[in-house]
Amino acid sequence: MTQPNVRVRFAPSPTGPLHVGGLRSALFNWLFARHHGGTFILRIEDTDRKRYDPEALSDLLENLRWLGLDWDEGPEVDGDYGPYFQSERLDLYQKYARDLVESGHAYYCFCSPERLARLRQEQQQRKESILGYDRHCRGLDPAEAADRVAAGEAHVVRLKMPLDGQTTFHDLIRGDITVDNSTQDDLILLKSDGYPTYHLANVVDDHLMRITHILRADEWISTAPRHVQLYRALGWEMPAIAHLPVVLDPSGKGKMSKRKKLGPGGREFPVHVRDFRAAGYLPEAMFNFLALVGWSYDDHTELMTREEIIERFSIERITPAPAAFNYDKLDHMNGVYIRGLAADDLADRLMPFLERAGFATDRETVKRIVPLIQERMKRLDEAPGLVDFFFVEELPDYDPALLIPKKLDASGAHVLLGQARGVLAEVSPFTQETLETALRGLAEAMGVKTGQLFTPVRVAVCGRRVAPPLFGTLEVLGRERVLKRIDLALEKLKAIER
Ligand code: GLU
Repeated sequence: MTQPNVRVRFAPSPTGPLHVGGLRSALFNWLFARHHGGTFILRIEDTDRKRYDPEALSDLLENLRWLGLDWDEGPEVDGDYGPYFQSERLDLYQKYARDLVESGHAYYCFCSPERLARLRQEQQQRKESILGYDRHCRGLDPAEAADRVAAGEAHVVRLKMPLDGQTTFHDLIRGDITVDNSTQDDLILLKSDGYPTYHLANVVDDHLMRITHILRADEWISTAPRHVQLYRALGWEMPAIAHLPVVLDPSGKGKMSKRKKLGPGGREFPVHVRDFRAAGYLPEAMFNFLALVGWSYDDHTELMTREEIIERFSIERITPAPAAFNYDKLDHMNGVYIRGLAADDLADRLMPFLERAGFATDRETVKRIVPLIQERMKRLDEAPGLVDFFFVEELPDYDPALLIPKKLDASGAHVLLGQARGVLAEVSPFTQETLETALRGLAEAMGVKTGQLFTPVRVAVCGRRVAPPLFGTLEVLGRERVLKRIDLALEKLKAIER
């Protein structure tokens, strides 16, 4: 049954480029909202001024849009519950912090950073199992504390956590989770610079923005009991909550790091969404793949359209188990999506990759090349390496030995290539079909295997042995360039003939 009143949010902190784990959180929230016909909100949690990165916001918006995750409320679209930047809501947080002090649920704390550092050090030395604030200021007389605040003394506001008993919350993916309150310290709500902590701002906004379900990264699970207490202190009902499974690196051992890693083949595995884009992963493939990082429809279905995933998505089928990020699977899936593209569409998507590689090209040429490489690519960034020889007048130097097929020597190769040149100079029209018939006919007439004839031709025009299908390649290159390259190859062979 769908619940159209569902309101979920993605609430990133703009501290750097969007991480693929963050994109997965955004995707699950978006899927949940779209499945129910509810509302997907984008809220920018920019209260950590030290870690704020001014470029992160445009990176975020661009990459969410790239994946097709449109937001119903948030930056650039607004909505009834804005502003959607926390830095524009400071007065709200300050008001609620004051209310909590007045209602006796929170208190002013004047402990200096030095005292807190010393405290921590002492706790560590004593090897205490629970590190945290010792509630030094909790017992201060409220009137006296208020005077000190009024006199301008530096302070923070802390939540009074219950000193004993337990806090339980229900996680939609993991079930009931209970912690002993003695393990929780009095968390800071408002910092000395008047900015809220993540906890206060997040809770206040989730409430004021009428969030119904919180789907957030697993790393926040330990803060949930304190948020439960904060909701209670404010007298608000807490939204339903679920913690998404952590995304592990391909080995399944470590958390997917914030930085790029070197893969076994020396390949740099992207972790930031912009780097996935630059590598030529299609948004369609990424969407399908990411949906399966922690969620599944059944135990075997992998390829699904966007609409199918929206229709099938449910929190019940999100697993609590950590999900390893499998780049091989992503590559495979991306290849499937590339092969499914219309040639025109693929040509458009390849243009920027070819331009970036420095090839002076035009769409028409790329369109003609597409059928030659569409089956062979897993990522669009492989294209320049597959088609470079189309875009140069002269091939870079290559080893002439490559021109010599198995069981032949340089002069044998020279003879074959010379014959092939003759045929290629005559064939008309210069098209895939006629070229194929002519060259196959020549092999037969000369009594050699087709491979023996095609290898020197291929190397002569491409400069390497592994290349796109030969006849299509010849057609796109055109007679003039083909003959010129063959003449050069013949010279190379001549030079090594004995
Ligand atoms: N601003 C937090 C983050 O960057 C939000 C966590 C949450 O969704 O509650 O991940």
